[in-house]
Amino acid sequence: MVTERIIIEDTHRIDAGKLERAAEILREGGLVAFPTETVYGLGANALDEEAAKKIYAAKGRPSDNPLIAHIADFSDLKPLVAEIPAAAGKLMEAFWPGPLTLIFPKSDAVPYGTTGGLDTVAVRMPSDPVAMTLIRLAGVPVAAPSANTSGRPSPTTADHVWQDMNGKIDMIVDGGPVGIGVESTIIDVSGEYPVILRPGAITQEMAGEVLGMEIGLDPAITGDGPMNADVKPKAPGMKYKHYAPKGDLTIVEGVPSRVIAAINELTRQCEAHGQKAAVIATEENMGKYQCGHVSCIGTRAREETIAANLFDILRKMDDMGVDVIYSESFYNGGLGQAIMNRLLKAAGHQVIDANTGEHKHCL
Ligand code: AMP
Ligand code: MG
Repeated sequence: MVTERIIIEDTHRIDAGKLERAAEILREGGLVAFPTETVYGLGANALDEEAAKKIYAAKGRPSDNPLIAHIADFSDLKPLVAEIPAAAGKLMEAFWPGPLTLIFPKSDAVPYGTTGGLDTVAVRMPSDPVAMTLIRLAGVPVAAPSANTSGRPSPTTADHVWQDMNGKIDMIVDGGPVGIGVESTIIDVSGEYPVILRPGAITQEMAGEVLGMEIGLDPAITGDGPMNADVKPKAPGMKYKHYAPKGDLTIVEGVPSRVIAAINELTRQCEAHGQKAAVIATEENMGKYQCGHVSCIGTRAREETIAANLFDILRKMDDMGVDVIYSESFYNGGLGQAIMNRLLKAAGHQVIDANTGEHKHCL
């Protein structure tokens, strides 16, 4: 298949005519990758089971891992869901359009082929103007998981999408690098209490404030609860390995001076054994590492810079062909919760405590 690529130069004044062909492909059951404010999505008609199958095939994604349906207007929600719980109404009002996905009981219109066989459906209204214009033009809800090969870091630029999807999909709409860089927050509002299934840019604190209550994290994220590692994930997608670079990534946590000393010692040992080592460092500490390859992920003063660079850095590690990677650790609150969630998955949950030297498995 030849993958067509179109560029939207001015995303503030979109020439809708340029997106007409993309919208037509979606209506006809084809695949179009497009930018959203979180990461690039791989879109197909969410009501067309055959189209959804093509997404799973292009990504190499297990078919029990459900897709998120993207809409452009509030009136698009009702046909997809059996019910709109009160908590959902408040969250939508506060955060839509934006990086928040909500899980509803599904209507009969949504095929099981898009929900991974579940009776619930995930819905999001993205704020990115290219995404909005495209979904509106298509006139159908658009199922759109991240436009990467399953297991690889999510794409934050059209080039990332090209690396993974060239020849496998009909079109890539290039709207430049995304703003946020980590996938949407997912909140399940279909049960008795709302629960966060995936942390994102709408933080636990932000959502809690709107609902006037503390919102829990799903035990599969925190590792809490009676069954600990055996907790059955609520969202099938949560059980899959994600984002992993080819090199062996370990997170090093602890007081900064110890982290730097530990990483310097670890990379020195790797290099002495002829391995290619790299460090993922913050701007604050960049100059303090002796390793031959030090990549800057952003500044601790503005966590959003770290979120925005995370997946690109992990892909660059693959491009450089490094064998071993050590990353600094981040504060696990606010947006940091989303950053650490992705980084821990990418590291296969391997963490070294620089204060004690202990190797840990952290969720
Ligand atoms: P992505 O891989 O970014 O497309 O995100 C899709 C993720 O959304 C899945 O892996 C699930 O974690 C979650 N999700 C989608 N639909 C549902 C659903 N009906 N119930 C629970 N989680 C869902
Ligand atoms: Mg994904």
